[in-house]
Amino acid sequence: MESSPPRRVLILGGGFAGIYTALGIERMARADDRVEVTLVSRENYFLFTPMLCEVISSQIDTTHAINPIRRMFRRARFVEGEADGIDLQRRIVTVLYPNGQQDAYPYDHLVLAVGATTGFFGMQDVQQHAITAKTLGDAIYLRNWAIELLEMAAVEKDPALRAELLTFVVGGGGFTGVEVAGELNDLVHRALPAYRTIAPSDVRVVLVEMKSRLLPEFNERLATFAMRALRARGVDVRVNTAVAGATDREVRIKDGDAIPTRTLVWTSGVAPHAFVSHCGLPTDGKGWITVDAHFRVPNCAGVWALGDCARVPDGLHPGKFQPALAQHAIREAHQLAANILATMRGEPTRPFRYRTMGQLATLGHFNGIGTLGPLQVSGFAAWAIWRTYYLWRLPRLEKRLRVATDWTVDLLFGRDISQIQTYRASEVQEHDAIPEVAPASGDPKARDRSQTRT
Ligand SMILES: Cc1cc2nc3c(=O)[nH]c(=O)nc-3n(C[C@H](O)[C@H](O)[C@H](O)COP(=O)(O)OP(=O)(O)OC[C@H]3O[C@@H](n4cnc5c(N)ncnc54)[C@H](O)[C@@H]3O)c2cc1C
Repeated sequence: MESSPPRRVLILGGGFAGIYTALGIERMARADDRVEVTLVSRENYFLFTPMLCEVISSQIDTTHAINPIRRMFRRARFVEGEADGIDLQRRIVTVLYPNGQQDAYPYDHLVLAVGATTGFFGMQDVQQHAITAKTLGDAIYLRNWAIELLEMAAVEKDPALRAELLTFVVGGGGFTGVEVAGELNDLVHRALPAYRTIAPSDVRVVLVEMKSRLLPEFNERLATFAMRALRARGVDVRVNTAVAGATDREVRIKDGDAIPTRTLVWTSGVAPHAFVSHCGLPTDGKGWITVDAHFRVPNCAGVWALGDCARVPDGLHPGKFQPALAQHAIREAHQLAANILATMRGEPTRPFRYRTMGQLATLGHFNGIGTLGPLQVSGFAAWAIWRTYYLWRLPRLEKRLRVATDWTVDLLFGRDISQIQTYRASEVQEHDAIPEVAPASGDPKARDRSQTRT
């Protein structure tokens, strides 16, 4: 009897690379229900990172930049958990569940798509005090924190302390740093009409970049446009210098200057994932998984890797690697899905080749830059293209409608500056509630409370 070919695909990571690999297999193997896809990820949602800065600046609701993974799949199975180890000999992955239990997942094809982490160039103080801009939690925290600082500054009488509260430092002038600086500046300035004791000139957003110019991803002309546009909106852009350290009250700059501030947003470095370094797969010496142009991990049968966690060779530029970008991760995923199915059928796989279509970045309200093939755009046109393109790329109609509605409401009514308080009633109970048992007479609090009652 002919044995059936191995068809269990286990995908680790629910970001662009993992989700689109699962979706690609679902679509391409629609007629073959013997193909089983399981995706394991730490969160039960897919984060659309290009819109993360819009969450920070309160332009869209916190849940509109994410999609529940279970709603994205038709057949693939989703498991919320954290991959903890791989047994390459027995072809199993250990997964830890949120309830503390664990299971072993067997695979015929294993896809590593766990992304990367933020790097701090060995600066532990920066790591300790900075806020990163990578996860949904980061965005919610940063938005809340900025609003909290406005509330504190609104009642602060000491001018030096007030200046400290109203100074925001962003470390790193790449893609994310520029978008964060632009959006944070926008959030704070657009909130100010509601804070009558704070003047626009009291607020300072500082963007610090080590290299001689911003945005190495773009050409000189667009990078200069971005720098001028940010400066025109009051952002203090400092190039040729770097963040050298941080405490909870200041950021030290390389030239010796110290900026008093309560906020350092760190967007500068990327570092390999710790799971990748201890799971026993071959890495390039720096901790990135090495793969060939077909996404195969060498000497590990049935193991594939893609996206930000892997060094995927750039087929069009020998010696170079694919950049850590969502648009690349999506195309890689499409090719990997085809390669896995080809392997199951005993057909040849194809190497990945992809040329970046273009890039778009927002600089805050109504402003942006971008390249679309040979075309360069800046200003309102780039901003409008950014919105149209990313709205179209956002998965699921429901979320597109929600984001489009958020944008419209934002244009008409301005930013929502309510903080998302997450304390529970039980936490304030002792402070707020009148005790159910009457306090002993003589207790001074007894008088106060009885007065409150009447
Ligand atoms: C703020 C921001 C804005 C960006 N804007 C753009 C943009 O405009 N255009 C663009 O092209 N790119 C952009 N990027 C880059 C893009 O987001 C990344 O290149 C892309 O997310 C990489 O996809 P990935 O699937 O490899 O990794 P990720 O998206 O990071 O996904 C990794 C997933 O793996 C999960 N995971 C990690 N460890 C484990 C484990 N042990 N077990 C199970 N699951 C695990 C994580 O929780 C996560 O869900 C942006 C990035 C950021 C941070």
